[in-house]
Amino acid sequence: MSENKIIDGKEISEKIRKRIKSFGSELIEKSGKVPGLAVVLVGENPASRVYVRNKTEKTKEVGFQSIEHKLNEDVSEEKLLGLVEKLNKDDNVQGILVQLPLPKHINSDKVLDSILPVKDVDGFHAVNVGKLWSGLNSLVPCTPLGCSILLKMINDDLSGQHAVIIGRSNIVGKPMAALLLGMNATVSICHSRTKDLPAIVRQADIVVPAVGIPEMVKGDWIREGAVVIDVGINRIERDGKNILVGDANYNECYDKASRITPVPGGVGPMTIACLLLNTLLTSYTQFDLEMPDLSSILKDL
Ligand code: NDP
Repeated sequence: MSENKIIDGKEISEKIRKRIKSFGSELIEKSGKVPGLAVVLVGENPASRVYVRNKTEKTKEVGFQSIEHKLNEDVSEEKLLGLVEKLNKDDNVQGILVQLPLPKHINSDKVLDSILPVKDVDGFHAVNVGKLWSGLNSLVPCTPLGCSILLKMINDDLSGQHAVIIGRSNIVGKPMAALLLGMNATVSICHSRTKDLPAIVRQADIVVPAVGIPEMVKGDWIREGAVVIDVGINRIERDGKNILVGDANYNECYDKASRITPVPGGVGPMTIACLLLNTLLTSYTQFDLEMPDLSSILKDL
């Protein structure tokens, strides 16, 4: 296997975090303030706990302040909304992230929409969603932002290319479509009601599976030379071991693709890097300093 076929999200995300650290220390020097990221975790979901631990660790590594709030599974919606309100008003907090999924008795949409749009580093607030679809500057959901950065490193302008996204969630599929449109791709969004999915994927120059079904995308779905950006993270048992696999069958798709992201080590690490990137960008705004262009932060990675 030739190494350069693999899009190494782990290595790229490390480089991005180093850039964030260096831009961040300049920002701290100029403003005299340290960007703060507040992460709210409700309940004991083991996967969420791992994500939050990771986010906290990486936040500290880039020199930002990490503020963690752990609430019991049975916390009331009112209490959670009260905490968000407090964080909205806290000048030491530039980014607020409420880890999903929330327990069933809490209305997630209501909680996400209670976050001040300027502190919405997950990019899920309706204001940021609307801005993204209008082509305006906004905080962009971290996973699709990470995918778009990986794609931009291969090709900045996707004019004439057909991108097929599998999945239409608000977290990945839909914002990914907006970003790909912004890069001039022709975009198809597929989902569970799509007829003859393999036939549509076979037309794609770029395939972005974001489904949550282990190894669903087969090698014979992939056009020779297509780029595969696999968002899926699925824990499965194979040969008596617990392993992580994507939504694409990696070995099969590898043979057909010109470039492909592995799982783990592809899109996953880009998500956290983009969370920190969003925190950095919005801190400039909140500290009344001119925000550098994203392309200047990511230049020559
Ligand atoms: P959701 O469950 O919210 O959405 C899944 C989407 O897949 C839905 O739109 C659904 O369609 C569609 N779908 C389900 N079954 C099929 C099928 N048989 N054929 C075609 N489409 C189908 O998931 P998320 O978007 O939150 O996450 C998707 C994957 O990405 C998961 O594996 C998740 O773990 C991973 N993920 C990874 C991240 C990372 O950092 N790398 C971050 C976030 C997610 P419908 O709308 O019709 O139900």
